[in-house]
Amino acid sequence: MGEVHQLKPRAQPSVPCPVCGKPTSASSLPFCSTRCAHLDLGRWLDGSYRVPTAEGPDEPEKPDPE
Ligand SMILES: [Zn+2]
Repeated sequence: MGEVHQLKPRAQPSVPCPVCGKPTSASSLPFCSTRCAHLDLGRWLDGSYRVPTAEGPDEPEKPDPE
């Protein structure tokens, strides 16, 4: 007892913005802002993030297998 953990008031993920590396914002995850989200989208369109397979990136939501 007596051990105090300093919890952040906001449950922010520890993953920085993949575009600029700034702390992400809950309103524009996984980016720090919509601006970076658009920048990331631009990279996709530019082919910088092109994946070798026809499939997209990892699907965050998968149906639970039985
Ligand atoms: Zn950013």
